[in-house]
Amino acid sequence: MKEAFQKAIPLLSKIEEAGYEAYFVGGSVRDCLLHKEIADVDIATSATPEELKEIFSRTVDVGIEHGTIVVLFNGVPYEVTTFRTESEYIDFRRPTEVQFIRSLNEDLKRRDFTMNAIAMDKHGQFFDPFQGREAIKERVIKTVGNAEDRFQEDALRMMRAVRFYSQLDFKIDDTTRKAIISSSHLLDKISVERKLVEFEKLLAGKNRINALYALAETELYRYLPAMKQRNEGLRKIGQYDCFQLTVDEMWVLLLFIFEIEDHESEGFLKLWKLSVKKTKKIRQLLKWLKYRVDNDWIEEYLFEAGEGYISSTERIKNVLHNQSVDLNLNRLKAQYDLLPIKQRSELQVSGTDLQEWFHKSPGPWIKEKLEAAEKAVLYKQVNNRRDSLKEWLLKCNLN
Ligand code: ATP
Ligand code: MG
Repeated sequence: MKEAFQKAIPLLSKIEEAGYEAYFVGGSVRDCLLHKEIADVDIATSATPEELKEIFSRTVDVGIEHGTIVVLFNGVPYEVTTFRTESEYIDFRRPTEVQFIRSLNEDLKRRDFTMNAIAMDKHGQFFDPFQGREAIKERVIKTVGNAEDRFQEDALRMMRAVRFYSQLDFKIDDTTRKAIISSSHLLDKISVERKLVEFEKLLAGKNRINALYALAETELYRYLPAMKQRNEGLRKIGQYDCFQLTVDEMWVLLLFIFEIEDHESEGFLKLWKLSVKKTKKIRQLLKWLKYRVDNDWIEEYLFEAGEGYISSTERIKNVLHNQSVDLNLNRLKAQYDLLPIKQRSELQVSGTDLQEWFHKSPGPWIKEKLEAAEKAVLYKQVNNRRDSLKEWLLKCNLN
């Protein structure tokens, strides 16, 4: 058994000693069977959150209404979820109320895909009523129970199928795929926040190109924010070997391929409810990319963009030109390292200096002069030293 599970065995034992059942479940069991790194160990139990709080002294309520609490055990946080059913679904969304139950089997039955519905006890014994291990062996994504019914209950599961397709490169089972096509419109009811989580996981997956294509093929794209007109665009991504790009770089690639104008990009990203910070970064990168596809970098822009933006812009450009993603990165890094200054604050002249040297009160002229000095330093027309800058600025003022 993997170390992450080993470490949590005493936690399972403690729950069992109190008279309840406890198992490893979900993504961690699936990933372990796939011999993949496991991030978090998820635990399912017959004990209710209240009962767990009596067993463990250190707990945090994270989603108690869904039956999940975090137990801090030997300094490690574990998500422990009470067995539950989701009997009532309203408007194809997750139920507002969950029912706690004492049966593992019923808990596994409410899970989305057979590969995610496997439990493992502390001895490494599997409880796999839906043949999840077989699905993993056959590399197939298949709903637990009737696909159409399961998508009626919670339409996000369709999106999850495609994101697992991206992450795992499994095939989506034919019946499940057909049900996605016939139920795709139900995705309309799902909140943007939940769609975003799955979409970004999809963008990070190794099979992302096919997954984006699948969004187009299954019609799911129609019910994603700002995507109604993007059928062609999503298919076009297939031309680009983009699997090494980060999620933020993928957003930029999408906006570029969708031919989104600068003034439209904010609205596009807002519909996806991306954070202000992320929106700003993506829009900035898009601007640099548009510049870069037609021009080479010049000192001023290297300075303005900064190292992170330069390398991201270059990586996306390389993908668009079907070149190795790292092409030119070293050359540009060297060019950047040679810039005499990397930040405006490094310029050895300030607004106060200017007022003193020119005997003038503050005004827009200060910004102009500082920018001129900055440019001159970047192009090595003048040394970034206070005396040299003073001499240069006064001389320029005469001309
Ligand atoms: P990841 O490695 O990305 O975290 P995961 O399988 O752990 O993948 P989570 O979103 O963390 O996915 O969910 C944990 C488990 O909860 C899943 O494995 C699945 O059993 C169940 N689950 C999550 N979302 C749903 C859903 N919408 N419907 C049914 N079961 C779900
Ligand atoms: Mg998980």
